Amino acid sequence: MESNLLIYNSLSRTKELFKPLHEGMVGMYVCGPTVYGDAHLGHARPAITFDILYRYLQHLGYKVRYVRNITDVGHLEHDADEGEDKIAKKARLEHLEPMEVVQHYLNRYHHDMEALNVLPPSIEPHASGHIIEQIEYVKKILDAGYAYESKGSVYFDVKKYNADHKYGILSGRNIEDLESNTRTLDGQSEKRDPLDFALWKCAAPEHIMHWPSPWSEGFPGWHLECSTMGRKYLGDTFDIHGGGLDLLFPHHECEIAQSVAAQGHPAVRYWMHNNMITINGQKMGKSYKNFINLEEFFAGSHPLLDKAYAPMVIRFFILQAHYRSTVDFSNAALQSAEKALQKMTDSYNRLQNLSPAEKSGVELPDYKELCYEAMDDDLNTPQVIAHLFDACRVINSASNGEISLSAADIESLRSLMDTFLIDLLGIRMGQQQESAGSLKPYEEAVNLLMEVRAKAKAAKDWATSDLIRDRLAQAGFDVKDTKNGVEWSVK
Ligand code: ZN
Repeated sequence: MESNLLIYNSLSRTKELFKPLHEGMVGMYVCGPTVYGDAHLGHARPAITFDILYRYLQHLGYKVRYVRNITDVGHLEHDADEGEDKIAKKARLEHLEPMEVVQHYLNRYHHDMEALNVLPPSIEPHASGHIIEQIEYVKKILDAGYAYESKGSVYFDVKKYNADHKYGILSGRNIEDLESNTRTLDGQSEKRDPLDFALWKCAAPEHIMHWPSPWSEGFPGWHLECSTMGRKYLGDTFDIHGGGLDLLFPHHECEIAQSVAAQGHPAVRYWMHNNMITINGQKMGKSYKNFINLEEFFAGSHPLLDKAYAPMVIRFFILQAHYRSTVDFSNAALQSAEKALQKMTDSYNRLQNLSPAEKSGVELPDYKELCYEAMDDDLNTPQVIAHLFDACRVINSASNGEISLSAADIESLRSLMDTFLIDLLGIRMGQQQESAGSLKPYEEAVNLLMEVRAKAKAAKDWATSDLIRDRLAQAGFDVKDTKNGVEWSVK
């Protein structure tokens, strides 16, 4: 297996270092959301990270097939094959069909991704739509001798696999350490060894999502869907598999073991993991009450937030850090990202109005080349942003009449900003100004009403939400719920 687990320095435009496995197409698989709740920052970061990679590979001229799955079955409350299915639990508590829960949160996820200007993937397969393929995959692993059946469930035999191959290759963990950190099994367990993981689970009578299989009426193990759907849409081998660092172990480690067991070789060439997000220095977790969902960021409707933050501010803030570094969210950090983005927007707007001098008064560095070098260096977006700020200083000086720029200079700066800021970093112009503090008082008042309405909607207080919309309509405002959030204008 390739030891290079990062695409470090390998996205070169010369295409000498990065050669797709399949002629004419880069295959890219990213673990998508388990859709049983609203999208939060933990969803935004991988979506934005791999959106940058998707945009850049296409910009370099590759045809990319980008698969991002939807987990709608088999993700149990406790990742180690225990507890209730997360979606089934939500369905039970809210008296809904499980697929109703999935559709509801998937619609909201798509809405949030659109707001963040994350491009949709090429294929978005659902785990529940690939049960037959998953059963076939389990059969292959059984046939190869790396799994066993126990009381209607099928488990992957980690020790047997480790004896022939090596388990832990991605995370650098070894099986002895893992064993000493794992609780021993009680006599009731169906597993031979605590490290074994489920490929198929026999459904308990109260479990509402289940399918027939050769072993039992049951459902697939969580790790299985990604191996199966990656293979179905990208082939036995593909180039890139991504996801959050929290998925590296055990999820991705198990995926590798499954594909080696079923296919005889690893499926993935490069693994990429975005690092985690903390909030005010703390990990995100239920017990910390700091799961701020994206809608709450956009509306400013969470007690930890001082104000609303536009989707582009969130995107820009995430891109100011390298994807392999942690990012700490705080009001102060977001407000400084907001200011920085506003500065860049101002320069971008000035650039559109610059008129050329006959002769250039400065010799400009090749900013575009510098930005390409930064992107080629493992998607170094903070470095790209630093170069763009250097270019902004030149634009501002020209706009103030301190230096003169030729038509060619202006053209190259426009091309730089359009390529890197708009197309590759994916910053949508205009949106972030809404929360930049330059609004007239009545606009701020209407925005305040929009925030109250968003809170009412979040609390399912439809009466208040409709009242605000209707009264604003009577007063001559046009309020629309669009894909990008609420938009209003004066009729
Ligand atoms: Zn996955």
